[in-house]
Parts: sequence; structure tokens; C-alpha cells
Amino acid sequence: MNRISEKADGQELLLQGNEAIARGALEGGVIFCAGYPGNPSSEIIETLIQASRDLSIYVEWSVNEKVALEAAAAASFAGCRALASMKQNGVNVVSDFLTNLALSGTKGGLVLVTCDDPGGISSTNEEDARLFARLAQIPLLEPATPQEALEMTRWAFELSEIIGNIVLLRSVSRLSHTRSNVQTGAIPDNRVTPRVDTNTPFHTFPVVAKDVARHEKLIQAADLYETSPFNCYEGPNRPEILIISSGCAWNYVSEAVQILGLEERAGVLKLGTTWPLPKNLLEKHLGSCDRILFVEEIDAFMEDNVKSLGADLGKKIGLKEYMGRASGHIPLGGELSPSIILRVVGDLFNLSWNNIEYQLRIKELTNDLISAREFGFCPGCPHRGSYYAIKTALAWDHRDGFVSGDIGCYSLGLFPTGFNQVKSVHAMGSGLGIASGYGKLDRFGFDQPVITVVGDSTFFHAGLPGLINATFNQSDILLLILDNSATAMTGFQPHPGSDATAMGEPTVPADIEGICRALGAYVEVEDPYELDNAARTIYRLMQKTGPRVLVMRRKCALVQGRQGGFPYRMRVNPDRCLGEACGCGRYCTRVFRCPGLLWDKAAGKAKIDDVICVGCGICGDICPQEAIEREKKS
Ligand code: SF4
Ligand code: SF4
Repeated sequence: MNRISEKADGQELLLQGNEAIARGALEGGVIFCAGYPGNPSSEIIETLIQASRDLSIYVEWSVNEKVALEAAAAASFAGCRALASMKQNGVNVVSDFLTNLALSGTKGGLVLVTCDDPGGISSTNEEDARLFARLAQIPLLEPATPQEALEMTRWAFELSEIIGNIVLLRSVSRLSHTRSNVQTGAIPDNRVTPRVDTNTPFHTFPVVAKDVARHEKLIQAADLYETSPFNCYEGPNRPEILIISSGCAWNYVSEAVQILGLEERAGVLKLGTTWPLPKNLLEKHLGSCDRILFVEEIDAFMEDNVKSLGADLGKKIGLKEYMGRASGHIPLGGELSPSIILRVVGDLFNLSWNNIEYQLRIKELTNDLISAREFGFCPGCPHRGSYYAIKTALAWDHRDGFVSGDIGCYSLGLFPTGFNQVKSVHAMGSGLGIASGYGKLDRFGFDQPVITVVGDSTFFHAGLPGLINATFNQSDILLLILDNSATAMTGFQPHPGSDATAMGEPTVPADIEGICRALGAYVEVEDPYELDNAARTIYRLMQKTGPRVLVMRRKCALVQGRQGGFPYRMRVNPDRCLGEACGCGRYCTRVFRCPGLLWDKAAGKAKIDDVICVGCGICGDICPQEAIEREKKS
């Protein structure tokens, strides 16, 4: 049995934050779980898939986040406890349904988990999804540690059933991916038989009455928050500065206060329940101090809400000095860290803090653990071949064409590893929608060819409406579906083109070419490892008009590596390689840039790194001197 599925309580497990959220959901009696993969949230559903082998729960990777929450809501309407999980961008996708669901209300406990990504470490933005709690007027919980992640998730189902509405739980990358020992509770037996009471339908009408009811539910949550164990205070009765913090950022505040020896001078109020605010608790602490610093990840969400409360309480608590993002004390962008908070708190208390020494010490401790890695495609990646073929075709075409990009590993087409071919990247599926707009600009004299790329998983998630728009409006688009048969960037989760579900059950894969043809697009298929053929096909399709689709199909190199490997042993023939002298400007290592190709400074020639090169063989076609040679493995 998987340790996460152990039903008895009282275990101490070393858990990642996301595993603790999954365990909390199991202890909270969840039976239906759905999500769409995306860092830093993916491990929640992955952990629940493991648990589904031992426990009677259902888990799915949905086609997108909105459908994930809709599917989870069905379980809630039928009286079961359900969870939907996603990263911050996913909450945008969900938001239309979410704001309506918040009016209709729910029945079985329903929890939406968002994992935000301060600093956009694995995202296209660093959006703060907490704002959706305020937009939808639903309760928000923010765990600070893996232990709290477990306990808050477990309680979130209870809260959802008490108020009859969905609850938002917000993690951030640093919490989702940290590990610590966690004390577990028991996993209850599922005794609920799903049943929808047809006398109590779920909808938003009458809208005003439902809106009033939603606000009353929020007031009920606020009352429960006043005595919540997830809020706590440490420090003197009348601190010189009150630091109000939430979630992961609280850990940095605690550490800074301790390191700087400020336990008797600074007060730290940790809020785990950040929307709606526990007003009485805040009134008590705001009244105790005139200088208040806010420390929270991404936006000034809590800061703005507490300042607004402070204005309401003005006559009782008096005038305050508020410090945070608005005052410039906390940086406007980027992930917080212990060293940033040490500097901020140290400055406020006039304590000198040698940040440089602290950073050097961290570097010293981590240098041996982290090896340098270029921001690029893996060795053998089919996307390198696709972008090389695109680059070649666009160069042949001479009309200053470019690529409208999308979200996935292939977003790296923005950078040298993808030959800088991509000129825009926004949200899932946006590359196609944008291209469908470019495809109608010819009537105004626009004459640049536009190629749009989308991965197989993103195609199903949000690409289809863009293609339908292009075919219906007969837009001039050339869509390259970079089909590597996996949701590769987030850990190879199945998608609707796969032949098995998240729980390993066989299913009918959606036929990409069939779908595109059914929508009226002209369709061909190419292999991105066949550089010359692929470039010629792209060039030929660029000369046509109307909606055209080229499926570039080749398995992700990491999947291929596990499923039998690659056919070639590569070498650079030193007699053929002319190095700097050949006039190619070291094309292989400077332009093609597969990490399996190295520049041998001493010899002044290229060479293969036998440890990194997987033997895909595609670089064998790029050298003008034909110096890169393939030998079939026996
Ligand atoms: S292998 Fe070919 S492309 Fe690379 S440096 Fe040598 S001659 Fe130039
Ligand atoms: S064969 Fe060439 S392109 Fe393929 S992994 Fe090796 S060095 Fe890279």
C-alpha cells in the first residue's frame, strides 16, 4: 500500500506540500478529484492517482481546468466531497464557471486548490489567484507549512459544507515543493452514495437573492475565522512594528525576527484565513501598534483588504503607518525570500544586515548541489527539429514570417534553443486565436506569413476554439501541431489523445488529424527528425491559403529514452570538421545548440558529448561539411 493511502491516523510522514494537500483531501473524505497539470500544482493529482490504487476514489486529468471544476461540482451537487486542482493560470480558465458556481452554491464539500508561482519560475506570469476569492466572494485559506496544508485542506471540506459554497485554498511553489514531517489524521470510509435532489436544482436565479445568500455565507465563514487555529500571534502586547503575514511568506518573517533577535520588539500576526478577514481579531492587533508591515506573496491582496478595514475602524484604532508593496518597502515583483525579508525588517529596526555575506553563504552551501544548465530543449527533443525546419522554411520564403507561439515546452521557441522563431506567447491556446486574427489582415495589406504552433495537450485544452474560429472564418493560418504524445512539460500526464486515463484505464484516443479534417482544415503529417522533408513541407504549405494543419509527430525524447532509446551512435569526424575555419561559424554548437554537441577548445573542432547525446541522429543533417556522422547501434 502507498504510504499516502494508509487509513490509520498518527503517522509521521515526510511529505511535499502538494502531497500534504492530497493527504488532507483524503482525510477530508474526498472521493472525486480532477485537475489539469501545470507546475507547481501537478503533484496533487499525481498523489491522488497513486491513492486511487488503494482507496475507493475517482481521479482524472481533465481536458482543461474549467471542465475539471465542472466535473468536481457534479460530485458536490450529488452530495460527495470533491476537489479540483490547478496552477494560477488555470483559475483564469475556471473563472467564468467559478463566479456562477459561487452563486448557485454547492452541497458536498467542494475545494478548489490553486498553486501560485511567485516569480513565474515555471509560468508565463506571477498572477495572484487569491483575487478570485474576492471576485467570486468565496472563502480563502492560505497554508504556511505542509502540516497546515494537510489540516487546512481537511477542514476546507467541512467549511464548504457548513456554508454551502466552494472554498479556495491557495498554495505557492515554495510550499507546494518543500518537504517536511507531517502528522497525519485518519482517512474516513466513504459512506456517501451520490444522489442529486431534483427538488433543489443548482443555478444562479434569482441572481440578486443568490448574491445576498452568497454574502451571508461569507459572513458565516468570517465568524468561523475569528477563532480559527490557523491564525496566530507571537510577540509583545504592544510591538514596535506589527508584521501581518500569510502563507509561505510567514516562514521568512519568523526566520527574520528570530535571526535579528526581535522577539521582544516585533509582533507577528499570521493569518491563514485571508478572505473574508477575521475583523475582530484584526481590530485587536491593529489597535496594539501604529506601524504595520505586510508580508505576503505576489500582490498586496491582504494588505489592501486590511488597509480598507483599518479605514473602517479609523475612529477606534486611530491613524496607522502601513508598509508593504504600496509604500515600496516590499518589492513590487518577484518571489520573496528570507534574505529579502531580513533586509526589509532589518532596515525598519535600524539593524545592519549583511545580505551579501548571507547570499555568499547560501551559494557556498548549494554550489555542489546545483549544476548549471542552459535554458533549452533536451537532447533529442523533436521541438528542436520542428523549429529548425520552421526557421529554414521561413528563410526560404523571404517575407519576414514568424511564429505565433503557445504554452508548453515549445514556448522555448522564444529563445536561442528554438532559434528565436516565436514572436508572441500568452495563454493556453492563444497562439492559435492570435494567428486566426493575423490570417484576416491581408485585406489591409498584411503580407507576412504566420505559422502558429501548439502542443497536443494544449490543442485539446484551449486550441480547438481557435482552430474552429479560423476554419469558420476561413482565416489564412498554418498550424503546426507539435505532437510529442505527452503533456511533457508537466510530467507526461495523459491527455485526450492518449490511450489510457489517469487511473490507467484503457480509453479511445481522440484523433487529431480526424478532428482537424472534420473542422474543414487541410491536413498533412511530418516527422520533425526529417529536417529537410519537414522544411520543404512547411514551405509548400506556406504558399497555400486557408486553414492548413501540419502535424509534426515524434515522441518526446524523454519518453523515447524510456521506451527503447535511440538508434544512433554519433561522432564528429575530426578530418572533416573544419572548426572556425569552415565559414559555418561553428553552426552546430552556436546555432543548432543541442547540448549533446560540444566545442573542443583545444582541438578547435566540434565533438559529441557521449554522456548527454541520446543518439537521435538529427544533427547528422546540419553540418555543411557532413562532419557529424551517424553509426547505427547494433
Ligand atoms: S561539425 Fe560542422 S558545423 Fe560543426 S564546427 Fe565542424 S564543420 Fe562547423
Ligand atoms: S544525435 Fe545530435 S541532436 Fe541528437 S542528441 Fe545527439 S548531439 Fe543532440
